Amino acid sequence: MIPFNKPYLHGNELTYISQAVSGGKISGDGVFTKKSHEFFEKKYGFKKVLLTTSCTDALEMAAILLDIQPGDEVIAPSYTFVSTVNAFSLRGAKLVFVDSYSDNPNINPVAIRNNITAKTKAIVIVHYAGVACDMDAVMAISKEFNIPVVEDAAQAIDSYYNDKPLGSIGTFGTFSFHETKNIISGEGGMLVINDEKYIQRAEIIREKGTNRASFFRGEVNKYGWVDIGSSFLPSDIIAAYLYAQLEKIDTIQAKRKALWQRYHDGLNELAAKGFITLPVVPEFATNNAHMFYIVCENIKARSELIQYLKGNGIHSVFHYLSLNKSDYYLANNESVDLENSDRFTDCLLRLPMFYELELEQVDYICSKISDFYNVK
Ligand SMILES: *Cc1c(COP(=O)(O)O)cnc(C)c1O
Repeated sequence: MIPFNKPYLHGNELTYISQAVSGGKISGDGVFTKKSHEFFEKKYGFKKVLLTTSCTDALEMAAILLDIQPGDEVIAPSYTFVSTVNAFSLRGAKLVFVDSYSDNPNINPVAIRNNITAKTKAIVIVHYAGVACDMDAVMAISKEFNIPVVEDAAQAIDSYYNDKPLGSIGTFGTFSFHETKNIISGEGGMLVINDEKYIQRAEIIREKGTNRASFFRGEVNKYGWVDIGSSFLPSDIIAAYLYAQLEKIDTIQAKRKALWQRYHDGLNELAAKGFITLPVVPEFATNNAHMFYIVCENIKARSELIQYLKGNGIHSVFHYLSLNKSDYYLANNESVDLENSDRFTDCLLRLPMFYELELEQVDYICSKISDFYNVK
């Protein structure tokens, strides 16, 4: 069976974990956390980064930092993972879901603008598949109405909008190192803070509401409880695994891009014949090869294709169920139809994508998809 995803050791993971242990500090903010912070600030020019235990946590920190209160409205795409919006629901926000483009799952800025009200306190966008949203359009709305933007960049490591790294454009960027992402640490994440005024409070919120970070820098002579917060920082064991992956980021990305291109070449003809649709990467965006997906004609074709591939030893998956149709949302809100988001829910199919996947396996997967459509 070709799995959908598979975690992989790229070199120094186990060595660094063992170094962290023998160094005598495996709680948060140890040597490997610092090395990872430096890596991101240097390679991508992020103003300030803080590792977290997940992207979910980074989003929760963003919601606290933006002081989201019950009744505030938060605009977000519907075709996304639960965590994108759950962080804001936890603070009592009212979610306003808006639609994707018709040709790709990213949020449509026109739909954002149409849903702004006096109560809108944040705009959350997702760079789906690591492909940038139209950030000039999003940031123009943000500026016009003075509403902060959170970039859920969970899938968007090492990807760019024109020449700006994703995660560096909004007020905050949030990343994931979950085992299904490009760079992994099992569970893991990161908050990027692009506006200086939030840095100090972010450190406090991440450390249980204490000013421990200032204390260790010698800025205050004792530390105590100064704000709300939680325990958002990862063990240095996680950071050790992560740092080993970061050292290999260029190799990892090159392999994933080669796999992505092979899928694209292998399925181009099927797409030209109109059986499936392939991902669209706009001019302003780079492709970080986070995922390879196809869009089937309808839910029936997709279900049959999943079964067919399964029968041939290939594990493909669909994922997001439009959040505007989720049980939790509908329990407290009226149903809304979001045509494009609902279509991606029914028709989008993700194909296996992980570092150890081989080009020949991609060829095999493409040939099986062609067989399914009876195209030679
Ligand atoms: C994976 C993912 C998350 C959640 O990341 P965790 O690190 O598992 O919390 C959030 N948003 C999007 C768009 C994701 O793909």
